[in-house]
Amino acid sequence: MPRNRHVHVNTEVRHSGSMSVTSQLALDEAVAKALQYYENKLAATRQDDIDPDDMNYEELQALGEAIGAETRGLSDELISFLTPSMYATGFVLRDEHAECVICCMPYEDQAALITLPCEHHYHSDCIRPWLKINKACPICGEEVFG
Ligand SMILES: [Zn+2]
Ligand SMILES: [Zn+2]
Repeated sequence: MPRNRHVHVNTEVRHSGSMSVTSQLALDEAVAKALQYYENKLAATRQDDIDPDDMNYEELQALGEAIGAETRGLSDELISFLTPSMYATGFVLRDEHAECVICCMPYEDQAALITLPCEHHYHSDCIRPWLKINKACPICGEEVFG
C-alpha cells in the first residue's frame, strides 16, 4: 500500500544503482520538480477548479496514483459495518468454491469471513486491507457501498 509518495520516489532513486553523482543530482532535481508539479496539481484538485480535460492520460494516471490511496478505498468506519461471519465446514456458500480468491486458500473450519453485498466472500483478514485501498469487490468490481 503506498503510504507516502515521497518515500516511494526516494526508494526508487536509491535503488537506481550505479549512476554518477552528477546524474544522481540531476535526477534528484527532476524528481523534486515532478513532485512540485504534482503537488500543484493536487492543490488544484482540492480547490475543485482542476479541469481533467486539460490533462493528458499520463498526467491523469500519475495524479490518480498520487491520490489513489485516499480516494479509492473505504474508511475504517465503513469497513466496520461489514460484520464477519464464521465459516463452518459443510456450510453452503453461494459459490461451490469455498476458498478466498485474495490469498487462494480454502476456508478453514471457523475462519472469519466477510460476505460483500454482491455475495462474494473472503477472509475477513484479506478483504479488510483490500477495501482500504479499493472499495470494489475483487471478483466482480461492484462497489461495496456504491
Ligand atoms: Zn484469504
Ligand atoms: Zn462481488
